[in-house]
Amino acid sequence: MNAPLTLEGVLRPAAADQAAAAAAPWAADFPILARPVRARRLAYLDNGATTQKPQGVIQALADFYEQSNANIHRGVHWLSQHATDLYEQARSRVAGLLNAPNSQDVIFVRGTTEAINLVAQTWGQSLAPGDEILVTDMEHHSNIVPWQLLCARTGAVLRHARVTDSGEIDLDDFRSCLNARTRLVALAHVSNALGTVNPVAEITRLAREAGALVLVDGAQAVAHAPVDVQALDCDFYAFSGHKIYGPTGIGALYVRASILQKLAPWQGGGDMIHTVSFEGSTWAEGPQRFEAGTPNIAGAVALGAAIDYVQSIGLPVIAAHESALLAEATERMLALPGVRLVGTARHKAGILSFLVDGIHPHDLGTILDTEGVAIRAGHHCAMPLMARFGIPGTARASLALYNTQADIDALVAGVRKAQKLFGV
Ligand code: PMP
Repeated sequence: MNAPLTLEGVLRPAAADQAAAAAAPWAADFPILARPVRARRLAYLDNGATTQKPQGVIQALADFYEQSNANIHRGVHWLSQHATDLYEQARSRVAGLLNAPNSQDVIFVRGTTEAINLVAQTWGQSLAPGDEILVTDMEHHSNIVPWQLLCARTGAVLRHARVTDSGEIDLDDFRSCLNARTRLVALAHVSNALGTVNPVAEITRLAREAGALVLVDGAQAVAHAPVDVQALDCDFYAFSGHKIYGPTGIGALYVRASILQKLAPWQGGGDMIHTVSFEGSTWAEGPQRFEAGTPNIAGAVALGAAIDYVQSIGLPVIAAHESALLAEATERMLALPGVRLVGTARHKAGILSFLVDGIHPHDLGTILDTEGVAIRAGHHCAMPLMARFGIPGTARASLALYNTQADIDALVAGVRKAQKLFGV
């Protein structure tokens, strides 16, 4: 296959890949895809919001509670040690997924949002008035609001680099925003609202020249192409398990080891301490210092199963499949009268944000729903980006490995139906 090997690769599928996109043998692994919705075949195109779960992940959750459940890191008994082993194996799986140098560089969290808040509330404590954090206009609210809260606490300043009309970071503007006061650059690897794949390695190089750290929001990236935190040379990388076929309520934050060692804890409680006395407490080493209380053990184990699942298919194969489908969907949607894409970057992952003349995105979403087609409509938690484009929102179809040509057929037919109903 003429596949893009990384997110930064050129997303130009060969004809053979386009044909392969017609069939996605993996759809059969996802029980929910077999259930009719509104008496129609379900075309699930809301994967940017959350992905469906393969049987192996559902089974891993059930197996954990049936066979392995106990609390971790504190039991002397066999089951507790067994559950601890499974939890720590899942941490290694995450490290493998991100090519982190060591599993101890990975902190389990609830998801991307919690990961970013963790960085804001730990590393961010060191900020002084006048220090700057630089984001881009295409960030999800979870990569804006935690920094606003931090700036309100510390007197630091939040800056934002512009996005071009095609939905790429304006690198000239980005460079002009970087300066000696920039302490952190925080950006999405892939935009959830536009599908843009950002040139993270290049951004990291520029940030490093300015002496800033880099946090990457990988929520829309990890399930769609190989990610390598060492090649990206970033300091923090956050993602959510539920967007990579794992359960909700579990995600991970990679932190460069030299930074993690120095980070102060954020939540206090059991499991994150070394010793506790009324005179003062000392903290656990490594990621445990940031995992106070009983974590989502079953969720972590099932996330490990989800990672095994995507790796058994191969992320380059998934990337090629989705890129072929995206190319087809883009071509066919643009062939419809009155359809406009929002986000036409040169490098895109499987997200198609669009507007249809004369139909509000919410109405479009509702009509597509009656056809069994699940898309998202609205601002996609990226209100500053919508303001940048002067629109209240878009309709968004977002792809996953189980999507097929039949899903694209259903999307296109649904849009045609909406246009007929609205007489546009
Ligand atoms: N960043 C991006 C780019 C996202 O798409 C999302 C989820 N839509 C988030 C962050 C937040 O993820 P979560 O709600 O799982 O914390």
